Amino acid sequence: MEWFKCPVCGKNLVQIAPDAVCQGVYIKCKKCPAVVEVKIARKEPEPLSLSRKTLEKL
Ligand SMILES: [Zn+2]
Repeated sequence: MEWFKCPVCGKNLVQIAPDAVCQGVYIKCKKCPAVVEVKIARKEPEPLSLSRKTLEKL
């Protein structure tokens, strides 16, 4: 388990699983008055299969 730390004071706020994904969750720090968003992006690399439009000559 990892800790999501307060970006202001560095206090451990919530425990997160290694594969956790979180967005739009706010938590008030117990140490400082900051309210921070628990924002955890997906760590898996995105597939590089993005379709790219190419200009075709008519
Ligand atoms: Zn804090």
